[in-house]
Amino acid sequence: MLESVSNRPMEKIDQLRAHGLFDAKVPRYTSYPPANHFEDCVGQRMQSDWLQTVADGSDISVYIHIPFCKRLCWFCACRTQGTKTMRPVEAYVEVLRREIASVRALLPANVRMARLHLGGGTPTILEPHTMRALLGDVFDAFELGTDFEFSVEIDPTEASPELLQTLIDFGLNRASLGVQDFAPEVQKAIGRPQSLEQTRSVIAYLRKGGVKALNLDLLYGLPHQTMQSFRETLDHVISMEPDRLAIYGYAHVPWMSKRQVMIKDADLPDSDTRFALAGAAKEVLNAKGFKSIGIDHFAKSTDKLAIAQREGRVRRNFQGYTDDQCETLIGLGASSISRFKQGYLQNAVATSAYQDRIDHTQIAGHKGYAMTEQDVLTARIVEDLLCRFAFEMADLYEAFPTQKDTIRAISVMLMRSFPDAFFLRDQGLGMMEWAKPLVRIVASRVDQFSSKETGHSAAI
Ligand code: SF4
Repeated sequence: MLESVSNRPMEKIDQLRAHGLFDAKVPRYTSYPPANHFEDCVGQRMQSDWLQTVADGSDISVYIHIPFCKRLCWFCACRTQGTKTMRPVEAYVEVLRREIASVRALLPANVRMARLHLGGGTPTILEPHTMRALLGDVFDAFELGTDFEFSVEIDPTEASPELLQTLIDFGLNRASLGVQDFAPEVQKAIGRPQSLEQTRSVIAYLRKGGVKALNLDLLYGLPHQTMQSFRETLDHVISMEPDRLAIYGYAHVPWMSKRQVMIKDADLPDSDTRFALAGAAKEVLNAKGFKSIGIDHFAKSTDKLAIAQREGRVRRNFQGYTDDQCETLIGLGASSISRFKQGYLQNAVATSAYQDRIDHTQIAGHKGYAMTEQDVLTARIVEDLLCRFAFEMADLYEAFPTQKDTIRAISVMLMRSFPDAFFLRDQGLGMMEWAKPLVRIVASRVDQFSSKETGHSAAI
């Protein structure tokens, strides 16, 4: 059964099992170090210093977090809160607008915004006039970089035509729609009804408005998901002609995300089935011409991410994978994380604490991580592994000339720990095709915090 659905010989599945794929709990490595290792000693003073030392004239990315939803889907572990009225949302956006002004004042005069991404929560919960005010402030604050991309996470069940039109009027050029799964039984078990018609109608509106790039997100490993139901969902999303798909493994962590207690353990597919579902998605999408990107993304060969992959420019970020090359990411809003060359900085997580900080000190950083040279090297190797399943010694020696011994020690350790999973390239190490699902486990061996890890999600 597994052999036929995943197209992997059984002995390779046994090798993956022997390396812990079906039991391990490891970080997703959307950052290194993962955010659970951020420290209280990195706060607003460093945030202020780091903002002021961003290179003048450089391109930056901006992320804005809207932590509100009208419904709270049971599977979701995002930082968000339910609201029945718009009053707290309006109040939050007012604070956000003040944060934009104070952060902009600290940044050098000539930085340009190359990316703007609105995520959540549900950014499309905003009333059109509120969205106009917010976007007006952002676009007034920054000159645009070349090849500017404006993307928004859109909940098809919470996106009025007026709101979509507002986004289009401001130049939306990439939309990211959450789907998860179209099977009614699965949707019922995760508390997220969403019809095919709603999804198609939002896509049609966006396409008609000139939004060319479309991302769709699915989850495998959901309750009651079967191979047949998942293949039907895949057929539906392929018929919607996305440019990019993210197919994440559902992370069942009810001790971290209380909503997930609504999902019964007994209804979840086991690890072998999760693996088979992920394998089926890859097979179906590759056969339809989508290129695999990293561990969980797929892109048409014309999409910017597939082009970046061909040119070796794919990066790992909090949204998964990106072609964004900006060194600086400015996170705005409650719980948002900024990335600077010096390290990471996260805003206060609860909306009340975030608003309190903006009221009193104009910026909202509350913890983060200052990178050492060793951390920068580890982060680079983790990113190379997650994006390319390989790293080149010569490139690392050039970037980290004082750490050649450490680089050699890491590669020897990996070859000894995973002797069957790696092969020697001209000037580095690459992972065998069958071993790629192990990459998060491999990265956890390089990770200097991994012995302190708890509470992460399944490796498959
Ligand atoms: S999936 Fe989207 S709409 Fe549902 S709770 Fe999470 S952020 Fe809100």
